[in-house]
Amino acid sequence: RDFGIRLHRALDKALDEPTIRQVACAAMREVSGGDRVGIRLLDPAGQIGPTAAGVDLPMTCEAKDTRGCTVLLASDSTFTNHSNEMDSCPLLLAHQHPDRPVEAGCVPIVGNDSRHGLFRTETTERNHANAERETSMRLVSAMAGQRMTNLHLLTQSQRAAATDPLTGLPNRRALRDFHKVAHRSTNTLSLSIADLDNFKAVNDEFGHEVGDAVLVAFATVLNSQLTAMDLAARIGGEEFVVLLIDRDAASAMKVIQRIQDAQKSAELDEGVPHVTASFGVADTTMASSLDDLLRCADKALYRSKLAGRDRATVFTTPSQDSAG
Ligand code: GH3
Ligand code: MG
Ligand code: MG
Repeated sequence: RDFGIRLHRALDKALDEPTIRQVACAAMREVSGGDRVGIRLLDPAGQIGPTAAGVDLPMTCEAKDTRGCTVLLASDSTFTNHSNEMDSCPLLLAHQHPDRPVEAGCVPIVGNDSRHGLFRTETTERNHANAERETSMRLVSAMAGQRMTNLHLLTQSQRAAATDPLTGLPNRRALRDFHKVAHRSTNTLSLSIADLDNFKAVNDEFGHEVGDAVLVAFATVLNSQLTAMDLAARIGGEEFVVLLIDRDAASAMKVIQRIQDAQKSAELDEGVPHVTASFGVADTTMASSLDDLLRCADKALYRSKLAGRDRATVFTTPSQDSAG
């Protein structure tokens, strides 16, 4: 009687899709009574993936996409008592031998109108199906589908909140999260601020839309020069941050040189001008918190601007300046 409550609790604790699948398959096994249970997930292109969870025997369904599966097409369950019956799933009819009929149940996984895939259960026992069992299977599927949809929506909104919509780069908030993790896992970090030079003049001369295209092109250049370990973020209008793991300021200067070269030779759409950027560089020998790193990098950036733009400067303290 408390099956629904237990399942709800278990799904609530499942924080990623594989765990949801695991919980749902365990629940499905509990209600389907001895069947082989599997999940087949639907990808955004409408392809049905291989049986993804909870199955230890190969199952007979060979549907490849939504159009090839009556259950997904109609978003309605089917329960087949005998694979050789004329009203069973056409794919079952096609693939079963007369002496080895199977019982199969297919239940679509749907939540808030999003189709996630389907549950499939199979058994070679005869006359195993009954209405109560089918109702329970629909319940499991509905709850799993709702949880998957909720998780997708949550992931989407988290991603949107951490992404700059123009360039697709992480934003300031994402930079903060990334720094928190990076700070814990490495001793050496460098943080560079890049600020496009005379960008106001680009807008004035070519228009705001071309200005936007310049920003997008610069984001592409940044990404092209960084590894998956590093982060490029857009923290303001024409201001970007490059956070490099395990690289001090001197090492960051080399990466910046590569960025500047790539920026100069970038292939741009017609009508989009080449612009330069100025950089200020700091690392964890100079400051430790993100705000202090940003402050140091910003001071160094100011010096790059003052010295004529299109260059990079490493932060130095006033005492270092007088000594050097
Ligand atoms: P400097 O070399 O000293 O950095 O000069 P600058 O012109 O780049 O700097 P300034 O701060 O005077 O101007 C920045 C300009 O960036 C002003 C603003 O209109 C523009 N800007 C900010 N955000 C966007 C955006 O999203 N799109 C476009 N097209 N322009 C933007
Ligand atoms: Mg600026
Ligand atoms: Mg600028």
